[in-house]
Amino acid sequence: MTASEILQYYFGYDTFRNGQETLISHILQGQDVFGIMPTGAGKSLCYQIPALMMNGLTIVISPLISLMQDQVTALRMAGIPAGCLNSMMDEINYKSVLRQVYQGKIKLLYVAPERLETASMQKIANEIPVSMITVDEVHCVSQWGQDFRPSYLKIVSFLKYLPYRPVLSVFTATATKEVAEDVKNILHLKNPFCLTTGFNRKNLYFSVAQPRDKFEALLQFLKQHPDENGIVYCISRRLVEEVTEDLNHKGFSAVRYHAGLTDKERYENQEAFLYDKVRLIVATNAFGMGIDKSDVSFVIHYNMPKNIENYYQEAGRAGRDGSPANCILFYDSSDIRINQYFIDNFGQNLEIDAGLKIQLQNREKQRLKAMQQYCTGSSCLRHYLLEYFGDTAPEYCGNCSFCRIHCEQKDITSEAQKIISCIYYLYKRNLYFDSESLIQILRAGKTEKYQQLQLSETLPTYGIMRDISEKQCLEIIKYLISTGMLSEKEQKLCLNRKSGLFLKEKQTLSMPVRKTGTASVQNKENQVDTDEALLSLLKECRQKLSQKEHVPAYVIFTDMTLRDMCRKQPVSDMAFLSVQGVGRVKLEKYGDAFMKVIHKYLDS
Ligand code: ADP
Ligand code: ZN
Repeated sequence: MTASEILQYYFGYDTFRNGQETLISHILQGQDVFGIMPTGAGKSLCYQIPALMMNGLTIVISPLISLMQDQVTALRMAGIPAGCLNSMMDEINYKSVLRQVYQGKIKLLYVAPERLETASMQKIANEIPVSMITVDEVHCVSQWGQDFRPSYLKIVSFLKYLPYRPVLSVFTATATKEVAEDVKNILHLKNPFCLTTGFNRKNLYFSVAQPRDKFEALLQFLKQHPDENGIVYCISRRLVEEVTEDLNHKGFSAVRYHAGLTDKERYENQEAFLYDKVRLIVATNAFGMGIDKSDVSFVIHYNMPKNIENYYQEAGRAGRDGSPANCILFYDSSDIRINQYFIDNFGQNLEIDAGLKIQLQNREKQRLKAMQQYCTGSSCLRHYLLEYFGDTAPEYCGNCSFCRIHCEQKDITSEAQKIISCIYYLYKRNLYFDSESLIQILRAGKTEKYQQLQLSETLPTYGIMRDISEKQCLEIIKYLISTGMLSEKEQKLCLNRKSGLFLKEKQTLSMPVRKTGTASVQNKENQVDTDEALLSLLKECRQKLSQKEHVPAYVIFTDMTLRDMCRKQPVSDMAFLSVQGVGRVKLEKYGDAFMKVIHKYLDS
């Protein structure tokens, strides 16, 4: 099967997301890859698909022992031969997985870094052909990252131990340039293909509030979103206890999670949340690494976290399946003091020299300052976040608490048509330009530069945007890039499928701009036209199956899949397969159950 066929057959999706196909094809050509993609972008498929296509075994190193089993179950449910080895398994289970590895019945083997030193892993390394080693959350190898884990350094010795060097594919959601360099050096990546897809998560609504009474504000939000589940992050264990108790007292089902609980309680509470037995989990930042529950509808930060990196990662746990989701931060100035205190006491138990300690503390101080600016600034929140990570982003996003108040939608259909067709005419002459030069052409600026190309005489779109300022042109281009209407290759603008469709289908387009009149803001991302009655019947059906099979509901189908099912209302196998997130195996397992519900609904 080809990569696209696997995407459809096992995962039930018909198109790759940004970056996935390129990463997969480099892996298949035998090149190391380094993918930096935000949470929810779809990193897993980038190694799972090639793992299925390569001859030998793929070893996936990931830090999440407690969730490994769930990940593997989810893959198995889709018909993918995966297994895991970790210290939480009993001996019978462990041996059975080993046997399957030797029989070639497992293609993807998940292990925690600590496992790499065990005799059984060393034996596998020597006796089984390993095609690829994948490292998830790879920023953990760097001590400059925000999550350094010494156990990750075991990967280096494991690689040395292998009789030959397999392909290395490594992934993370956040890595500054410095951390990325560090990762490359530590793991000795060979001429890796590096890809950063950009950090934007369109479906997330960002908001900062400074409520006088945080608990009251939390209650308000929960009342307004009655059927949704989410995470509430608090800065301390004490506060986690307090908020959990108060929520339960008010009749909301919530469990607590922090490092001071027993392993057993932590595990049980996490499971209760993953399996939808409770709606809310109140937690410190100890919760969440590797949580891939894809239907978390909101993440509320009860306090300001210590830096943007952590904030974006934690907030990013909302809406992984692509459905609209809320990321809300409650801020007050005492949050700064608490974080400051953490920084001052940083490194007390670490054996590092004083110079390095001060260096690391200073870095944390700067990070805290940037976080504070996010909370107190007066500009588009998404713009701020994306620029922080080095992405270029339009000045207004239209989907954050700032834009909701200060922006309105403006029709830019005609401008977009002009820009896209200009790039098209240039492409036909095999010419490619960056944004700045393109704007010169569109506005007939600096003519000399383009004289030899005789653009002014021969290009129909030359100077057609004279009446629009340079700044506005640039904003529109940035917006087109951010919405995927235009692509950039080595800084040169080029067209893609979406831009082609835009022209062909005469689509209209609008963009958020600073408000001038009083027109209200339309929030397109958060408007979903689903049939709520059918949706709740489908959810009920999913819940029953989830209880019967002892798997979390989202492992059966994500909310996004159920919404698409509502839209398409499939009653035949073919139609059911066309729903996003339905592959062959799931059609066979669940098709009948869900189609029965739809049938009954349509008949009623
Ligand atoms: P990440 O590891 O980058 O945080 P995941 O690999 O967990 O993200 O993917 C997030 C969600 O997106 C999952 O529900 C996954 O099934 C879905 N997904 C991944 N690739 C695609 C695709 N090409 N089309 C539609 N959904 C996808
Ligand atoms: Zn915004």
